[in-house]
Amino acid sequence: MTFTGSCMCGGVAYAIEADKYTAALCHCLDCQKWSGGAFTSNAVVPRTSFKVTKGTPSSYEAVGNSGKINKHFFCPTCGSGVYTELEVLADMTCVKAGTLDNGEANLGGKVDIEFYVKDRPSYLHAVEGAKQEPMFG
Ligand SMILES: [Zn+2]
Ligand SMILES: [Zn+2]
Repeated sequence: MTFTGSCMCGGVAYAIEADKYTAALCHCLDCQKWSGGAFTSNAVVPRTSFKVTKGTPSSYEAVGNSGKINKHFFCPTCGSGVYTELEVLADMTCVKAGTLDNGEANLGGKVDIEFYVKDRPSYLHAVEGAKQEPMFG
């Protein structure tokens, strides 16, 4: 199965060859800062299944709580956050689900796991059925 997605302006686009993905919300402070929103929603896929098909994203290396690098990739033109590579999760790519095409931003209506729920804004509640992690792992 091929999932596709892009940034807001369409300058950066990608494809994922995978049958399924792990749907993960992250409420950490870096995700809040990076997205400008309350959390990021992610389709976590094997890194080998993910390919940029258009444009060249810019990147920014943030040091996570682990002390390891979280590399954030974004469109240099419109600024959309597109995906993240975590050094602690070396064989996976965290695709920002809001960039997915064809309604896939809905993640099939299901969230598998929520990270950094300790930083979740108090006006949001746990997603029913999603595993709750105070931090990461
Ligand atoms: Zn763009
Ligand atoms: Zn995060």
